[in-house]
Amino acid sequence: MTSASRVTALALAALLTLSAAGPGARAADLNPVKQAAVAAVDNHRDELIALSNQIWAYAETALQEKRSSRALADYATAQGFVVQSGVADLPTAFVASYGTGHPIIGILGEYDALPGISQKAQPVQEPLVAGGAGHGCGHNLFGAGSIGAAVAIKELIASGRLRGTIRFYGTPAEEAVGGKIYMARAGLFSDLDAMLAWHPSDKPQADVTGSQALVDFIVEFKGRAAHAAADPWNGRSAVDGLELFTHGLNMLREHVKPTVRMHYVIQEAGIVPNVVPDRAKLWCWVRDKDRPGVEAVLQRLRDIAAGSALMAGVEAQVTIQGGDWELLVNRPGARLLQENMALLGDLPFTAEEQEFAKAIQKATGVAEVGLVTRLRPIEEQVFEGGSTDVGDISWLVPTLHLSVTTAPYEAPWHAWPVVACGGMSIGHKGLVYAAKTLAATMTDLFTRPDVLAGIQAEFRSQSQGVTWKPYIPDGPPPIPAP
Ligand SMILES: [Zn+2]
Repeated sequence: MTSASRVTALALAALLTLSAAGPGARAADLNPVKQAAVAAVDNHRDELIALSNQIWAYAETALQEKRSSRALADYATAQGFVVQSGVADLPTAFVASYGTGHPIIGILGEYDALPGISQKAQPVQEPLVAGGAGHGCGHNLFGAGSIGAAVAIKELIASGRLRGTIRFYGTPAEEAVGGKIYMARAGLFSDLDAMLAWHPSDKPQADVTGSQALVDFIVEFKGRAAHAAADPWNGRSAVDGLELFTHGLNMLREHVKPTVRMHYVIQEAGIVPNVVPDRAKLWCWVRDKDRPGVEAVLQRLRDIAAGSALMAGVEAQVTIQGGDWELLVNRPGARLLQENMALLGDLPFTAEEQEFAKAIQKATGVAEVGLVTRLRPIEEQVFEGGSTDVGDISWLVPTLHLSVTTAPYEAPWHAWPVVACGGMSIGHKGLVYAAKTLAATMTDLFTRPDVLAGIQAEFRSQSQGVTWKPYIPDGPPPIPAP
């Protein structure tokens, strides 16, 4: 720990002591513009919760989010934003803008669900729709909370208390494809001064641990079919190639950094045993804490694919489908978020909500500690696995990212507990808290040019010499047929 961050730790400790005084905004600690921003979120609270519930019930998966996207875009239009839909060749993406000139502050919203995890808003596992999708990553809250913050800033610009532009980005397909990457490639973030985003979580914090870089690729093997008993010498098995590849990949695990994650599924591996299979296909993701780490492992796997093909007498082809850059952490930005979270105090969960959370923790076999209400100090954060297409944006524009409690501590993510809490008051309180933090933080970016300049200087020094190049292939996004 450097001496500078020790000073920050002391300052944070002081702020945390203040925040322990009780739930809700400490009006006395908020300047008048911040008070107005927080009050605006409260004024729209019921609408934001209704929007979130609507998107929760739609539970539309990646690139299918037509009604969810429409609900948010219509709300933005009704609030006076200029809305441009279908940006970057993504039918469910949109940009909602208000105001003119700089600073131009962006805020991200997501709204895609995950297949197969439909769940009622109750602490006992039971699907709302059998086999249906569910918001197991809380993106219904993410979209509604972010638009709430954007509306608060819009009202301050409209009343002349802030000058500049607020822009809400409706970003589809975070759970597959990565809609933001196509939006970035289309240049939609190029004139921004700063970007903000939050994510539902099991704890509140201004994130400084980043996310993992990821590459998503297919390995295909092509062999020669033959009768498996009558003339196997004429055959070359693509499945042999695939099995050698997975063996090589699994041996490689011993020789990679502890931060590397490799996961795959086998998509094609022959049809019947009495035909030597001429096709085999595997879908693989490799992650590490940063892109150079991912690239190094990818090169080893390319060699392993070539070696496997040579041994099996077949051909191998590796095709990159997509991937995410790691999130570039902006520490001055994180400190600003942390200050604003501390001003807002603890998350105001009730005893009933804590019981709801504990019931889920009991059902999922994790410690029954309930919901985390207290802001986590920056110095206590630990790196967790996972990737996001927000990472790519963070290399193009300074990005401030926070997490807010919307689910029980350490209960399974991308699973029914998150869906359950996202459809009731636990998720709603997280949504409102996130909207207030984001709105309050944005007022600083609009009114304190020195703070914004510090965030931008940090971004320039961290990203110097790096040219963003997306993992996605050339051409339009893979939109499913209607
Ligand atoms: Zn998510």
